[in-house]
Amino acid sequence: MAKPASVVRGQCVCAAVRIEVGFPAVWAWHDHSKTTQHAHGAACATYIGCWRSKISITEGADVITRFEDPATNTARSFCARCGTPVFYERGHSPQMVNLPRALFASRTGREPRYHVRFEERPDWAYAGEPLSPLKGYPGVLRTRASKRKPPDFSDPA
Ligand SMILES: [Zn+2]
Repeated sequence: MAKPASVVRGQCVCAAVRIEVGFPAVWAWHDHSKTTQHAHGAACATYIGCWRSKISITEGADVITRFEDPATNTARSFCARCGTPVFYERGHSPQMVNLPRALFASRTGREPRYHVRFEERPDWAYAGEPLSPLKGYPGVLRTRASKRKPPDFSDPA
């Protein structure tokens, strides 16, 4: 008898949408593209890529809303109750579906070692600058003033 496939479980913020994906994920990556920044309201999003056939929506399929963007040949799906992004599909890779890594509390079997569209990252993104505690605000850190110029990743051409 075949061993049952290993899965990891994820969910949106309100827990209406619950998803299972095969373990390990195929790959994991940081997406710095402008469209993902906008869609997530963040400097970047970290995704795990999974085979479409290894994904099941165990709850909440009826509350998932989908936005298809013909200009980029992509589709983004999110929970209509809480707004959490849940799927990011790209037309050039129809067998693969990307899910935000943050949906999963447990390990997904892949470390995010790839950076896509790194050159599009905003100049306000945190880039590992030294931090120090902000006095009087527990849990808040601030970037220390630096005289060093930030690295320039723009195209030299
Ligand atoms: Zn939700």
